[in-house]
Amino acid sequence: MSTTLSKEDWLATLVGMDTTSRNSNMGLIETVRDALSAQGVDCWLTTDEKGAKANLFATLPAADGQTQGGVALSGHTDVVPVDGQDWNSDPFVLSPSKDRFYGRGTCDMKGFIATAMALVPEFLQQNRKKPIHLAFSYDEEVGCAGAPFMLRELQKRNQKIDGCVVGEPTGMRVVVAHKGINLFTCRVHGKAAHSSLTPFGCNAIEHAARLICHIRDLADHYRDTGPYDKHYDVAYSTITTNKIQGGIAVNTIPGECQFNYEFRNLPGMPGEQIQAKIQEYVNNELLPRMQKEFPDARIDISADASAPPLEASEQAAITELVRALTQDKETRKVAYGTEAGLFQELGIPTIVCGPGMIEQAHKPDEFVEFSQLNDCENFLRKLSASL
Ligand SMILES: [Zn+2]
Repeated sequence: MSTTLSKEDWLATLVGMDTTSRNSNMGLIETVRDALSAQGVDCWLTTDEKGAKANLFATLPAADGQTQGGVALSGHTDVVPVDGQDWNSDPFVLSPSKDRFYGRGTCDMKGFIATAMALVPEFLQQNRKKPIHLAFSYDEEVGCAGAPFMLRELQKRNQKIDGCVVGEPTGMRVVVAHKGINLFTCRVHGKAAHSSLTPFGCNAIEHAARLICHIRDLADHYRDTGPYDKHYDVAYSTITTNKIQGGIAVNTIPGECQFNYEFRNLPGMPGEQIQAKIQEYVNNELLPRMQKEFPDARIDISADASAPPLEASEQAAITELVRALTQDKETRKVAYGTEAGLFQELGIPTIVCGPGMIEQAHKPDEFVEFSQLNDCENFLRKLSASL
């Protein structure tokens, strides 16, 4: 493959690879790695246990060869599924139409990665005092599961980064804060019995329902009492149960019930605090009640994934730089999570700014406007020139 593709060519290449989170992203990562190494840029990968998915980290050194400090451009390579969605074009073939590119991931967030990759030859020619890093992750869409492996390796390698831009879709405007996201699976183990013999069973669905209602009460409590931050479209922390399975027949008391809940916490409100309240109810009220019916009853809650909230400092150099480059002074905080909080947690000042609108993400006929990619290209060019 030619190493000097346009951002449109890169976008077509990236969209053409179905990197739905359940699939391997290795094809995409290898394509990016090969293009970078053809230009003399070294990368390192961090993979999942099976070696089926990888994060890629690459450093484009400063003019004097310096690889420490500088700015990281962060993007996730996975996309959400198209299952059950009604698309007007093949979601894995880039389809230009009027002023837009259609395709899964065009907006969230292969548009950003494509633009960054297309600029690599230019970045390499610039007389920069500081390096630029590319940090491309896997499994962001399933709870930022991949990036922590890359970040741990960054620490191990003692790689310093002065600031990070996460290119999630913000319409190329500056997002300085977002909520945290925490995903859980709860498995309620009761005892099955013939439904004519209710006293001999322990109904897992009914006890799960109690916990779900308790979770809803807790959500209402945060809605009614705060804490609040009016800069968010939803100004308080939210908790919601989104999936449930249980029961095997209409005349059998269900022995098992499983459900998934999530909460999205405001910065400054630790996720552990919310989970502790849920666990307290399970330990002190629900489980003792279940065990009266069936001594071996159990409720197991596992944390599937979590990503911390982001609260960027206005004084951080990266915030000031991106605000200056985008001419955007507004305080914008969003409810969706990104990997930005993970970088911030490592002590790397981070903000979110990327092409496309979040409203188009995850939907059928996802698209990004040409003008957004052009704005992104200009922004990254100026960003690099300022280093
Ligand atoms: Zn995304």
